[in-house]
Amino acid sequence: MIHEILPVGMLQCNCSIFGDETTREAMVVDPGDEIESILEIVQRHGLTVKSIVITHAHIDHIGGAHKLKQATGAPVYMNPNDIALQKMLDMQAMMLGMRPVENVAIDLGAKDGDKLVVGATEVHVMHTPGHTQGSICLWMPSEKKLIAGDTLFRDSIGRTDLPGGNGKQILQSIHEKLLPLPGETVVIPGHGENTTIEREREHNPFL
Ligand SMILES: [Zn+2]
Repeated sequence: MIHEILPVGMLQCNCSIFGDETTREAMVVDPGDEIESILEIVQRHGLTVKSIVITHAHIDHIGGAHKLKQATGAPVYMNPNDIALQKMLDMQAMMLGMRPVENVAIDLGAKDGDKLVVGATEVHVMHTPGHTQGSICLWMPSEKKLIAGDTLFRDSIGRTDLPGGNGKQILQSIHEKLLPLPGETVVIPGHGENTTIEREREHNPFL
């Protein structure tokens, strides 16, 4: 599996580009910004983007989705519980002092237990509310990888003081859904360095 991680935009959101080496089908997760650079990676590997997945509707994760959808024609997946937050994208831009972005039309809901694919590889959707009500994580068992959005970070957890945040809920999501995953699972957080489930189980001061 091809996997490139590109930190994009002012807040350096980790955008993941997954590509199947045989079918050349790709999935892009959290295209927050810098769509030209994302497309460059897609083209360099000779990939076709088949899906765009948003882990949650914060502007640093969803801000470039409209542009990427226009360029690729790929459908956009997001959990329906974040639609209210997605409608506040202009306000989010204002709060961060960013230029407003064009909002994207969501094509498909990514709900708990849904299975998406990149070529032959399964991607399991896990609903992990707390950072936002529609936050999801993506688990790829055969790759031993977890895209954690802003739910779990190396040595930290997602903030819960923004609209839709809930401190008790994020801990519940992490304890019930993420920490039981195999310890060697590589965690790719929404920002910052990778980690593993085992490392966070043992060292994360918030857990
Ligand atoms: Zn966020």
